[in-house]
Amino acid sequence: MGQFLPFYKQVFKNLFSKPATTQYPFKPKEYPERTRGHIEINKDQCILCGMCMRSCPPGAINVDRAGKTWTINRFDCIQCGYCAEKCPKKCLSIIPGYQEPGAEKFAETVEVPYEPPKPAAKPAAPAAGAAAKPAAANANTATTAAPANAAEKADEAKAEEKPAENAEA
Ligand code: SF4
Ligand code: SF4
Repeated sequence: MGQFLPFYKQVFKNLFSKPATTQYPFKPKEYPERTRGHIEINKDQCILCGMCMRSCPPGAINVDRAGKTWTINRFDCIQCGYCAEKCPKKCLSIIPGYQEPGAEKFAETVEVPYEPPKPAAKPAAPAAGAAAKPAAANANTATTAAPANAAEKADEAKAEEKPAENAEA
C-alpha cells in the first residue's frame, strides 16, 4: 500500500489543479509576447524607401514606389525580423500569430498612401529693373567720387607750378 502513496498524491493534485492543455481550437491560442509570428506594416508611416526589400534575405518583400504598393510573400518570409530592424520609419513589426497554412503561395499587397515631397521651386530670375539698380548705385558712387578727383587734380597742378617758380628764382 505504501508503494502506491506517491501515485495517490499525484492523482489528487491533478484532480484539483487546472489542466496543462488548452481547449484549442475552441479557445484561441495565446502566443507568448515575443513570439516571431508574422510581419505587419503600418502603411501610414511607410515612405516606400525600399530598405526592407533590400535587406530581406529570402526576397519576400517587394516595394513598388511608382505603384505605391508594399508586397510581402508570407510563404517566403522566415520571420528573421531584419526588415523591421532596418526600416527607417519603424513601421514594420513582428507580432505574435502565425501565417495560416495554404495550398498555394500568394503575396499580400498593401497600398501605401505616401506622397513624396515636391521639389522646391527655383528662385525666380531677377527682373530687368533690378539689373538697372546696381548701375544707378555705381552712378551715385561716381558722383560722390568726383570731388575727390577734382581735389587730386588741383594738388597735381600746384606741384607742377612749384618747379616753374623755383626756376624763375
Ligand atoms: S522577417 Fe525577414 S524574411 Fe520576413 S520579410 Fe522581414 S526580412 Fe524578409
Ligand atoms: S516599410 Fe519601412 S523600410 Fe520598407 S519601404 Fe516602408 S519605410 Fe521603407
